[in-house]
Amino acid sequence: MRYSPGDLSVRLPDIADGDALVAVSAADKAFSEWRRTSLDERIAHLRDAGQRIAAIKDELAHGITIETGKPITEATAEVGFVVAKIELAIADAKRYLAEFSEADNARPNVVRRRPRGVAAVIGPFNFPIHLAHGAIVAYLLAGNTVIFKPSPFAAGVCGSYGKAMAQAFPPGVFGVVQGGVAIGQALVSDPRVRSICFTGSVNAGRAIARACVDDVSKDVALELGGKNAAIVCGDADLDLAATAIVDAAIATTGQRCNSTSRVLVDSAVAADLIDRLRSALAQIAPGDPLETATRLGPLISAESADRFACAIALPGDWLTPGQRIESISTPIGTAATKRGHYVTPALLRLTADEAPSHPLFRDEVFAPLLTITSTTADAQAIALSNATPFGLTASVFTRDAVRFGAMADELNVGNVYHDLPTTLSPGTLPFGGHANSGNGHPGGRGFIRFATDEQVIQRRE
Ligand code: NAD
Repeated sequence: MRYSPGDLSVRLPDIADGDALVAVSAADKAFSEWRRTSLDERIAHLRDAGQRIAAIKDELAHGITIETGKPITEATAEVGFVVAKIELAIADAKRYLAEFSEADNARPNVVRRRPRGVAAVIGPFNFPIHLAHGAIVAYLLAGNTVIFKPSPFAAGVCGSYGKAMAQAFPPGVFGVVQGGVAIGQALVSDPRVRSICFTGSVNAGRAIARACVDDVSKDVALELGGKNAAIVCGDADLDLAATAIVDAAIATTGQRCNSTSRVLVDSAVAADLIDRLRSALAQIAPGDPLETATRLGPLISAESADRFACAIALPGDWLTPGQRIESISTPIGTAATKRGHYVTPALLRLTADEAPSHPLFRDEVFAPLLTITSTTADAQAIALSNATPFGLTASVFTRDAVRFGAMADELNVGNVYHDLPTTLSPGTLPFGGHANSGNGHPGGRGFIRFATDEQVIQRRE
């Protein structure tokens, strides 16, 4: 049984598992026609889909909030990104699918991109529509057919999105198959599925890669976790840094791949930054995600809240202890209550010696939990930032642009920010990680290159 994470008295409808074989057969059948359509035709279908999604945007935002507990302002923004992505993806398709010739080749030639076939897109709960949608529209524009397996936590709202999308395409070109791990495995193991875009945890990403390992022609793009650091130099604007750190630690209740979860601060300004962080975190109380004033909603599940409770029970130098809260008052400030998976943010101080091997410094907790570590040199901050298995995002706060540039060169992450939060990932730029954070950069601009095969043609004359 499923319940709304922000209100455990609200039962969510059960959604039956789909049939992966039936979905793949339909997508495989549709591919032979869809691949022959022109880019202009595919763009027309995509724009139709965009209008259908825009027409139900409030329903989708409400669904995201009810099923995942994401605050309604964030859910509304997510649906806005989904609609905006259509034109960004069309611009990408025109740019990256354009044929070209190499003038310095001895013979006339054409380099072009062709669709792969059936693509499977497996999505996470935290941006249940937006992250999958970016890959879905790229695959479709490139002439692939697509099956979307959403997170079971957001099955209802993803089903509504899928219905609106599917109506804009010929039968079989786009479909949703519901289910969990078993359906995901059935999809990725099917030999007719030629390309996979997965967004989720490292362990699930590994399981998917393992399922595909014997078929070397299958493309597998993985967008995985992050353990993202904010590096605060001695010359930083501390107000700006503290605001960006707190925003990026609590957005989506810390359940973003690019959430800030570690702070590395020059010891000269550590005390001042800690004061600012503690007072900002103390202002943040969890609230009903359906209220527009709420910044911190619930965690996704009881398991997630238990994991957070275990983390904050670890002995250590807790500057802000964090709490699990069984119920909140709603509307904020009234006596009415809602039970849910609520928490308050936590801040743990770790020394530079203990940090690299500390689980809360290395592992993704996926909750509003920050560690803070004082450093004595930029090189030490960089080494600590790089001392995790992940490589997604990092921010550097400094008034010195040259210093920022030198540090960016050394940071082993896919996205580096100067005086900005680690969560900034506009759809207008590429996005993706290194190391255990994944490959293929599925998250942003340019993914359409991955959604295709290159074909090179040469003529005698
Ligand atoms: P999850 O890995 O538990 O599940 C993600 C999806 O994979 C779900 O649809 C799930 O049903 C499916 N799945 C799980 N195990 C599978 C398996 N063995 N085979 C096939 N499918 C399987 O992740 P989640 O809890 O939904 O999302 C949180 C995780 O996603 C975090 O680790 C977060 O960092 C990551 N994430 C990464 C990005 C990014 O852009 N790098 C973005 C969002 C989330």
